[in-house]
Amino acid sequence: MKKGKKLYEGKAKIIYATSDKNLVIQYFKDDATAFNNQKKSTIEGKGVLNNRISEHILSNLSQIGIKNHLVKRLNMREQVIKLVEIIPIEFIVRNVASGSIIKRLGIEDGTVLKEPLVEYCLKDDALGDPLIAEEHIYAFEWASKKEIEKVKKMILRINDFMIGMFRGVGIKLIDFKLEFGRLKINGNDEVILADEISPDTCRLWDSITDKKLDKDRFRKNLGDLIPAYTEVAKRLGILHEQSNVSAVNVTKLSSVKKKHK
Ligand code: 5GP
Repeated sequence: MKKGKKLYEGKAKIIYATSDKNLVIQYFKDDATAFNNQKKSTIEGKGVLNNRISEHILSNLSQIGIKNHLVKRLNMREQVIKLVEIIPIEFIVRNVASGSIIKRLGIEDGTVLKEPLVEYCLKDDALGDPLIAEEHIYAFEWASKKEIEKVKKMILRINDFMIGMFRGVGIKLIDFKLEFGRLKINGNDEVILADEISPDTCRLWDSITDKKLDKDRFRKNLGDLIPAYTEVAKRLGILHEQSNVSAVNVTKLSSVKKKHK
């Protein structure tokens, strides 16, 4: 498959055209940003780990019937994905209160929610991805009621699956962000899961120690982001247990064949 011109560059990824108009290549960068782009850095190896972790999660979700944009991983930093029209909403799923909700509502960090809470944010960096109500989605026609009903059902299944997957490897899934896109399948409009699912887009705490294994290590200047992401990848069986953990050899680690595929 031929890599064509750059179509879009985001904060953590670049999208390239391919010779197939329905497919694009998603490249995972090492750039990290937080607080609406106010904090920026480059963390060597982050893109490699997110590519592998996201591939693992999306291919597992595909196996339980959650249609998503992943076609295949090409190499250390690239995946072939289906070209979709992204719904301009960030769907935030919370199992435990942390991050923006605790500041917004004065809730204690780590409060376990009785049921998963789904929040909607408008995907607009210039506005700082503001929280919106479901009614705003219909008022401004960002998505239809039918689409949101489908998305909500998918979100609950994705959340159940991911809670179980992470629980099995000693990790608590605190919250995460999902994006969905529109696609024509056999002439019908479908909504499928898009974007990445990785420690950049989830809060992941060690089940016993509550150690943060996600992008909060960057947001809160906790350091050791690569060892934390590597730990997630190892526990998920993507990297060998005995692999050395350091930013410099992440590139080598990434070529280690998957154990469980
Ligand atoms: P919060 O609203 O607490 O900042 O984020 C909730 C969850 O969604 C966290 O797991 C966070 O990583 C993810 N999230 C929310 N917005 C974004 C975003 O714009 N980019 C990324 N990578 N993750 C986000």
